[in-house]
Amino acid sequence: MTNFPAFQYDVLIIGGGAAGLSAALALGRARRSVVVVDGGEPRNAPASGVHNFLTRDGTPPAELMRLGREEVEGYGGVVVRSEVLSAARVDGGFTVTIADGAVLSARRILFATGLIDELPEVPGLRGHWGTAVLHCPYCHGWEVQDRAIGVLATSEKGVHQALLFRQWSERITLFLHTAEQLTEEQLEQLAARGIELVTGRVTSVDGDGERLNAVILEDGSSHAVDALVVAPTFTARTELLEQVGIEVLPHPMGVGSFVETDPMGATPVPGVWAAGNVTDLMGQVVTSAADGLRAAAALNGDLIMEETRAAVDAYRLARTEAAVR
Ligand SMILES: Cc1cc2nc3c(=O)[nH]c(=O)nc-3n(C[C@H](O)[C@H](O)[C@H](O)COP(=O)(O)OP(=O)(O)OC[C@H]3O[C@@H](n4cnc5c(N)ncnc54)[C@H](O)[C@@H]3O)c2cc1C
Repeated sequence: MTNFPAFQYDVLIIGGGAAGLSAALALGRARRSVVVVDGGEPRNAPASGVHNFLTRDGTPPAELMRLGREEVEGYGGVVVRSEVLSAARVDGGFTVTIADGAVLSARRILFATGLIDELPEVPGLRGHWGTAVLHCPYCHGWEVQDRAIGVLATSEKGVHQALLFRQWSERITLFLHTAEQLTEEQLEQLAARGIELVTGRVTSVDGDGERLNAVILEDGSSHAVDALVVAPTFTARTELLEQVGIEVLPHPMGVGSFVETDPMGATPVPGVWAAGNVTDLMGQVVTSAADGLRAAAALNGDLIMEETRAAVDAYRLARTEAAVR
């Protein structure tokens, strides 16, 4: 079992992706004792590089996280590579139990656990996720520009994705798959933008794990594509949040589930905070890092007020005692 100091950390962070590490950096610099427990599975792990992160464009995700951990540790933050199995509210704070049975304790807890991308159930998709099976044009659009891009429609959002990716390539095919019949207006939009429409259920995708060759339909026909766009369901990793009393909500845009916070990352349960994809399903790496920073500043403010209240109580008591002496 890992040997942790018996003291209570100021803040315990579950999840050491962009959101969690950014919060830990700010808390370390605020001279707070902070521990990050991280399972080491950031959502973008399958991608070769992180894009749209100014000054770090194209950096491999694992390298970005390594640099982040180094910066956190430089300010005295502790980063533990493990899985948190359970979390509980206790007097004066929280405890969590990690995979080897060790228990850590903290005054405040920040969940930066990210989300899980649940892909449509088509054989071959998962093996190409993040390389040739994509969802986000801002993450991968540049890399597939001018290529033959298929869009797998599982709802009417497929039309929106096809129109979006048309910005990066003129060779777009929308596979209607399980989506409902399109409206006249949608059909006109697709035709006007030169987007090919293929009806029929997709039964598999063919490729070598890196590159895609084709999309196969139930009638046996094969359609060559270089990349396939899908719309995953974004399921926030919330099991532990539920253990400390947080409600999980369906996202208003129908894209998945998430936990709601105030603009600074505070949840309705005192002492519990959340940042990154767990609360913002559309968040990118740089915005998740910003969420973490914002939550850290608010958390530090919350601790300062608690300490000030305790100091005022002690001060008043000392003055009362001095007066009766
Ligand atoms: C294929 C793909 C490519 C992408 N490319 C880009 C891109 O180019 N640019 C961009 O800006 N965004 C990109 N994104 C989005 C980006 O991945 C997210 O915005 C970002 O990872 C969110 O950061 P986060 O810290 O909230 O969560 P994550 O980065 O997912 O980190 C969450 C961390 O929490 C840990 N964790 C979860 N539960 C536990 C637990 N119980 N105990 C311990 N640790 C736990 C996980 O192991 C993980 O390390 C991409 C997403 C995907 C799917």
